[in-house]
Amino acid sequence: MLRNEIRKFANNELIFRDGDPADCAYLIERGHVLVTVTRAGSELTLRILNAGEVFGEMSLIDDKPRSATCRSMGDTELIVVSRDQLLDRMHSADPVVRLMIRALMERLRTQTDTLRGETVVASAKTAGNEVEKKEAVERIALEDRILLALKNDEFVPFYQPIYDLNTFRVTGFEALIRWITPDGETIPPSVFMDVVEGSTIVLKAGRMIVQKCMSDLPELLSRFAGSESFFLSINIGGRQFADAGFVEHLESVRKNFGLSAANVKLELTERVMMEGPQAFATLRSCREHGYSLAIDDFGTGFSSLQYLASMPLNDLKIDRSFVMNMRSDKKSLSIVKALIHLANLLGLGIIAEGIETAEELELLKSLGVSSGQGFYFAKAMPLAQIRQLPVRFAA
Ligand code: C2E
Ligand code: CA
Ligand code: CA
Repeated sequence: MLRNEIRKFANNELIFRDGDPADCAYLIERGHVLVTVTRAGSELTLRILNAGEVFGEMSLIDDKPRSATCRSMGDTELIVVSRDQLLDRMHSADPVVRLMIRALMERLRTQTDTLRGETVVASAKTAGNEVEKKEAVERIALEDRILLALKNDEFVPFYQPIYDLNTFRVTGFEALIRWITPDGETIPPSVFMDVVEGSTIVLKAGRMIVQKCMSDLPELLSRFAGSESFFLSINIGGRQFADAGFVEHLESVRKNFGLSAANVKLELTERVMMEGPQAFATLRSCREHGYSLAIDDFGTGFSSLQYLASMPLNDLKIDRSFVMNMRSDKKSLSIVKALIHLANLLGLGIIAEGIETAEELELLKSLGVSSGQGFYFAKAMPLAQIRQLPVRFAA
């Protein structure tokens, strides 16, 4: 494993001085560190830090000079944490967490300035920059609005038909959530799904989606279930699989509507693998209960072929981004071919996503893909409109 640089100090050596520019933070591996500020010409001890504690991070986060002087006490070893290591983590943190860290830093700095006897001009101090602040405030506002919308039942599943590409029969649907605001505006998931999936809201929202999809499924079945393999696909966020009560809830709703698990497909993305062993156990349990599993967006994120081999999957969805470009870009076509080959080797079914033209359809068929969805056939639509949808697509 690569290790960070270690700096060694003998007793009472200067590590950095108040006012120095900052290029790293430190983690104390061994020894102690004395933190002081100068007040009215004499040194004032702020703290003594011990092994395991971090210091020097403040100046990196708020990009200001060191606010105190640090010296080693006894033989001391410090692990250097570089500016990039710290800032990379700050940047990838949730904007609200980032804002709070900056606010805490600001408060700490004010305290040391006060101890030094300096006059603190509050208005000159801002926690973080304005863009970050705006982002955090907007995120919290959106979360609040989503929670209210959940309470007011403003989320509705739309359904996009999935066709047998040879017979043009509807073989299933994918449920795609829409937010219908009280003034009738339809908001797509790109606006709110990141916030939903990035918080525990996804657990509540996910259960609501499962409930609504299952309550619509008997009607879809009575109209479209010519073939036994008819299915309704429901998108499930990674965190939902990590919820220990997920299968129990799914099963209780399914039984409530007298449905068979064989008619329900769960769509997951490879992000589910970040959720740890509980998510993996849930996937297995879903399969044991008779649900089928499709991997979505494969090849667009941090794909790992090992995940593909270890997950108990039934189908692989070919992402819209590859289908969209496969006729103009040789590399996209090669990826589509490779995905088809891979799915065949692993014994997985294939569903192509985002078919928009007759040419794309023909190309996919010639490559052996027999199931797909896309605007060429139909967009996602509310249940009322699905009632008018022909069982077979007329080209
Ligand atoms: P996804 O699961 O990959 O869904 C496919 C997206 O491609 C849908 O966008 C669909 O409307 C769109 N699409 C399908 N065919 C075509 C086409 O021919 N052309 C074009 N331009 N687009 C096409 P949508 O409905 O905006 O959903 C976006 C994403 O939001 C979904 O991507 C999924 O990741 C997420 N999502 C939607 N509903 C749910 C849900 O109930 N739960 C969860 N966890 N995520 C959801
Ligand atoms: Ca999907
Ligand atoms: Ca997709």
